[in-house]
Amino acid sequence: MEMRTLGNTGLQVSRLGFGAAPLGNEYGGMDDAEAQRAIHLAIDGGVNFFDVAPYYGITLAEKRLGQMLKSRRHEVILATKCARYGLADFDFSAGRVTRSADESLQRLQTDYLDILHVHDVEFGDKRQIVEETIPALRRVQEAGKARFIGITGLSLRMLREVAAEAPVDCMLSYCRYDLLNTDLMTMSAVGLLSASPLHMGLLTPSGPPPWHPAMPVVRETARRIVEFCQTRGVSVTDTALQFALSSPVMASTFTGMSTTAEVRQNLKAMDGAADPGILSEIEILAQPARGRIWKAGRPENYDSNME
Ligand code: NAD
Repeated sequence: MEMRTLGNTGLQVSRLGFGAAPLGNEYGGMDDAEAQRAIHLAIDGGVNFFDVAPYYGITLAEKRLGQMLKSRRHEVILATKCARYGLADFDFSAGRVTRSADESLQRLQTDYLDILHVHDVEFGDKRQIVEETIPALRRVQEAGKARFIGITGLSLRMLREVAAEAPVDCMLSYCRYDLLNTDLMTMSAVGLLSASPLHMGLLTPSGPPPWHPAMPVVRETARRIVEFCQTRGVSVTDTALQFALSSPVMASTFTGMSTTAEVRQNLKAMDGAADPGILSEIEILAQPARGRIWKAGRPENYDSNME
């Protein structure tokens, strides 16, 4: 597994990161024993970077991950988040995010977080995040409870604007660098992380979960890409991961995994590269979806291309 340095943190993170949203049953129910085997197999295969949040399964993912990582905590870089607690439940106040860090430590059964992110900044008030939330996270860091701090979100404009006023150690966006959307290439941030290289399930043979927010044209384009790969006898998930993880711009890319079969396949995909001929045909198929992204957060924080 290729390791990369995350921004100026000095952390060495694996190119493929383990996204723990599925541990919150965000993609349907899952078997605990199988998920635990999947996590340990990923670590054995060189994956050392784990991403979770209190929001995933409303604390379920953190609790499960804490239990499953217990014996191997020292082998991984563990990132969690604060300020988002439900679909529409946000609290960016200093008091809440400070308490949140302690709650996450307890659920994750650890006495330090490697990274504490502010979750989905576009849902907050920019002034509050800059003047209250991020300073509170710096105090959590000074207290030794988090080694580094960051921000996550869908709106690249909001991520850029927040970081310009309140520098952070890393930032993460999702569904912004994959076969459907490559907007993340416009970012020149230090410590850039990417998530959801399968566009939250759209680029899988079984398709997206019912809550997927993509607009019809993006769904239809994804369906065509999946069908095209099936017709050509290539794995759409391998191709999508190989494409997304080939960019040197992002230190790490998190994909959600909850079974040993998925981990095994995704680790194997890391040994190869996508066929250039297949990629150029996908590039043509993907055009209707390029630059198209759904609205998320407060209107004043939208990216100009959110629709
Ligand atoms: P993803 O694009 O990684 O897709 C995950 C889906 O793909 C799951 O259903 C998984 O079972 C399936 N999958 C994975 N490998 C597969 C394979 N080989 N074959 C078939 N299916 C496969 O989306 P995601 O899980 O939502 O995103 C990855 C992680 O990024 C999340 O778990 C989370 O940790 C992080 N994330 C963070 C934010 C944020 O901070 N705002 C947003 C989105 C994601």
